[in-house]
Amino acid sequence: MKINVIGGGPAGLYFAILTKQADASHRIRIYERNGPDDTFGWGVVFSGKTLANLRAADEISHAEITKQFAAWDNVDVVHRDTKVSIRGNSFSGIARLQLLKILQRRAEQLGVEIEFRSEVHDVEALRNDCDLLLAADGVNSTVRVRYADQFQPQLDVRANRYIWYGTNQLFHGLTLTFRENDAGVFAAHSYKFNSTTSTFIVECDPETWANAGFASMSDEETRAYLGKVFANDLQGHTLLSNNSKWINFLLVKNSNWFFENVVLIGDALHTAHFSIGSGTKLAMEDAIALAESFQLSTSVSEALSRFATTRRPVIQDYQAAAFESMVWFENAREYMHLTPLELAYTLMTRSGRVSYEDLKRRDPKFAAEYANKRG
Ligand SMILES: Cc1cc2nc3c(=O)[nH]c(=O)nc-3n(C[C@H](O)[C@H](O)[C@H](O)COP(=O)(O)OP(=O)(O)OC[C@H]3O[C@@H](n4cnc5c(N)ncnc54)[C@H](O)[C@@H]3O)c2cc1C
Repeated sequence: MKINVIGGGPAGLYFAILTKQADASHRIRIYERNGPDDTFGWGVVFSGKTLANLRAADEISHAEITKQFAAWDNVDVVHRDTKVSIRGNSFSGIARLQLLKILQRRAEQLGVEIEFRSEVHDVEALRNDCDLLLAADGVNSTVRVRYADQFQPQLDVRANRYIWYGTNQLFHGLTLTFRENDAGVFAAHSYKFNSTTSTFIVECDPETWANAGFASMSDEETRAYLGKVFANDLQGHTLLSNNSKWINFLLVKNSNWFFENVVLIGDALHTAHFSIGSGTKLAMEDAIALAESFQLSTSVSEALSRFATTRRPVIQDYQAAAFESMVWFENAREYMHLTPLELAYTLMTRSGRVSYEDLKRRDPKFAAEYANKRG
């Protein structure tokens, strides 16, 4: 098969690896507008379960990924300057750039062609020149826009703003920190992803954002302001920018996942709020599901419908959980009256997927403390 892939992010690279690995006769070419070392953002997180899926799909890239990552089992909630730790949550973090480098190397070793600094404008020309066009071109997908009539996307721009920073302050565990000032409530999602750096995402509601006056602040002023808000947490470390900008979260869904020889995967197909840390996981697991569908099918159309049928319920489930989590953060100010322990419990159970019984299994000490305080 001749396969054209638009987008060399985790979804496009991983699909190319798995498909080429299954059958070396496929000719796969990835078009990526960035260079091999350009990237946005800092670290990404994977759960223990995702790593097991990656291992089953391709042991070689799994071994490289797990060599580089920082692992932890605690979620820490900081509220009113008090930290509550909940253990028993297996996660690991890796720099996005590191992950992309590993996947690029593996793809090239297998014979996948990657055209860096190659932005695709004429999607139709690429589609006419292949058996399969994979749209792995991220949240603002050009392919989704070009074929909007076929995919029928539903795009929902959410009200909260967030900005993705790094810092050399190391947060050992997924740390959710809440700080209040005259402007309103700020939440930080942070975790260490290598021995020197943590991701530090700050999120706030539109009132807080307007009151703080971010609209007229430069990048440096914004970092200085947020550095003050989170001074106790950053302990003298600064926030590091990587062309970081305030963004509104875009919730993406599509009525149709494919048509003829074109299919969407990863963020182009669906997004899940970053508070459940699963964008990269879902992108790579989409790639696994699509590659498997091809192995079980005898034609492109059969493979694409198999992919949509088997994968859709999984994505719907994740998007439902991520939606609850996103709404929780959009309404964070309503929870600020809770004690740190109550807030931690509410946070852990916010997506509706973790119950008191689950917490009892994961961290009996935390569950008992919560039960005692509740009387
Ligand atoms: C603040 C924030 C925090 C996040 N935290 C996490 C986290 O902790 N854990 C996690 O798993 N995920 C996280 N994510 C999500 C994660 O970054 C994405 O979900 C994931 O990268 C999706 O992979 P993808 O391959 O679908 O798309 P992308 O990684 O966006 O890749 C798409 C690629 O396509 C290229 N491209 C786009 N258009 C074109 C074109 N026309 N021609 C050529 N190339 C093109 C882009 O340059 C890009 O390289 C976070 C996201 C944000 C915004």
